[in-house]
Amino acid sequence: MNAPFIVRTRPHIAVIGAGPGGLAAAMLLAARGLRVTIFERDSVVGGRTRTLQAEGGYRFDLGPTFFLYPRVLREIFASCGADLDDEVELIRLDPLYRLIFAGTDPLTIDATPDLDRMEAEIAKINPADAQGLRRFMADNRAKLAAFRPVLERPFDGLADYLSPAMAKGLRHLRPWASVNDDLARHFCDPRTRLAFTFQAKYLGMSPFRCPSLFSILSFLEYEHGIFHPRGGCGAVSAAMARVAERLGVEIRLNAAVERIVFEGNRAAGVDVAGTRHAIDAVVVNADFAHAIPGLIPPVQRPQWPDGKIAAARYSCSTFMLYLGIEGALPGLAHHTILLAEDYRRNLAQIEAGEIPDDPSIYVQAATQTDPSLAPDGHSALYILVPVPNLRNGLDWAATTQHCRRLALDRLKAIGLHDIEPRIRSERIVTPQGWRDDFAVGYGATFNLAHDMRQMLHLRPRNRFGRGRGVYLVGGGTHPGSGLPVIYEGARISTRLLMEDLGVAAAATPGD
Ligand SMILES: Cc1cc2nc3c(=O)[nH]c(=O)nc-3n(C[C@H](O)[C@H](O)[C@H](O)COP(=O)(O)OP(=O)(O)OC[C@H]3O[C@@H](n4cnc5c(N)ncnc54)[C@H](O)[C@@H]3O)c2cc1C
Repeated sequence: MNAPFIVRTRPHIAVIGAGPGGLAAAMLLAARGLRVTIFERDSVVGGRTRTLQAEGGYRFDLGPTFFLYPRVLREIFASCGADLDDEVELIRLDPLYRLIFAGTDPLTIDATPDLDRMEAEIAKINPADAQGLRRFMADNRAKLAAFRPVLERPFDGLADYLSPAMAKGLRHLRPWASVNDDLARHFCDPRTRLAFTFQAKYLGMSPFRCPSLFSILSFLEYEHGIFHPRGGCGAVSAAMARVAERLGVEIRLNAAVERIVFEGNRAAGVDVAGTRHAIDAVVVNADFAHAIPGLIPPVQRPQWPDGKIAAARYSCSTFMLYLGIEGALPGLAHHTILLAEDYRRNLAQIEAGEIPDDPSIYVQAATQTDPSLAPDGHSALYILVPVPNLRNGLDWAATTQHCRRLALDRLKAIGLHDIEPRIRSERIVTPQGWRDDFAVGYGATFNLAHDMRQMLHLRPRNRFGRGRGVYLVGGGTHPGSGLPVIYEGARISTRLLMEDLGVAAAATPGD
């Protein structure tokens, strides 16, 4: 552990970025009596988890639409004297989502947390696989229980692997197996396996490469539910900002941090628009690949020199269409996932830096559950197409219209034939837009890839760099990307920060 700082009466912590990780960290630190200032370069809070206000009164989530495993955020709210369920209405969805296996004879199933009904849905794919469901659930229940301690603690080095609890959890990593390999133990039909492994895409990864541990993603959906926060996931970020402000956090919008200033090896200030703010520690929530090279001098991060950041492996990107639609969308599910007929080819094309010719797409029609997101008699449609990140050098100025056409044409496969004449508002975000407008390095929307060479102590660490006083939160640090793990990461990093400052952290359940 690093030596404690000399503690002033009320240490001042700067949080760079008001994304989910930054907001959670600010709440936790302020609740322990620290003075916290969030500096956010944008004019709104939430980062990728924000609400987009579109012309004509339509509202969309910019990024996350699946709110999973609220337990972590509920605990964070409770430790701050607030109640998540008082601040945001969480609507549990059933069905969870509609899955369409594309092809000449498409197959549709409605995934449901009701296991009897789900067995019947799986039987539509392959009757032999229905009996694998309860085994899959039991197996992953045990896996999550064993692995939770790994997700709830920092990994500073090899010594962190030595405790018995770690050994038990890490056994489940099975680094030689992918999620797809792992699921073969339960389901024989490749389509059933896909129904329980496409969730690797939440990490921007292929189920054929993503470590087997991540079969817990689909388990979490079936066991703990998928929620739609009324108003969208952006409403959760807004609630976090509200609670943070109640706790005394100052949120400065349109305030990009230019650099972290070090005195010796200690973070001592942040520069914002020509003004230096003295600090005792800094929490960096800004996207790792985008921000770290500019914020922290290389001498302070010998483990992550610029060359290593540039050469790291990153998630795929996403091409986004946010459409305000006149009229209703009868029969459309809240979430629909269209899985390409040749899913492997779809992934291979993305990995090769090509736009898939027959892409998988994800469509959210949040107004099916939450009419507040569009004017009366209108609907809001969010379309996501996984595409290569910017490392492959695609020219997005030349590719955007092609991708838009591809996405609109794919809507027919989910039963939406008459959309184009009804479009009343339209916004596109390309990988280039993710980079230039939303400060996402390489447009890699799900951060650093979650492969075994970039996980645990090999991921940028929660207590970061060679000096003192810099902590990371967000998808680029341990445990990784996705809202529940980002919130958990904020607990880990703030615990380290408070330990280093000699401030008592709130107890984490399970500690
Ligand atoms: C399209 C998409 C869909 C997703 N879907 C889901 C989902 O359904 N469920 C799920 O759990 N997760 C999902 N995710 C993943 C993840 O949960 C979100 O991306 C999440 O918002 C990442 O949070 P973060 O804490 O890393 O910070 P970010 O959301 O990246 O926020 C970082 C903040 O830092 C700010 N910043 C950057 N540089 C500076 C600077 N120099 N000074 C000040 N501020 C700065 C940025 O403006 C931003 O506000 C999705 C992501 C995307 C993009």
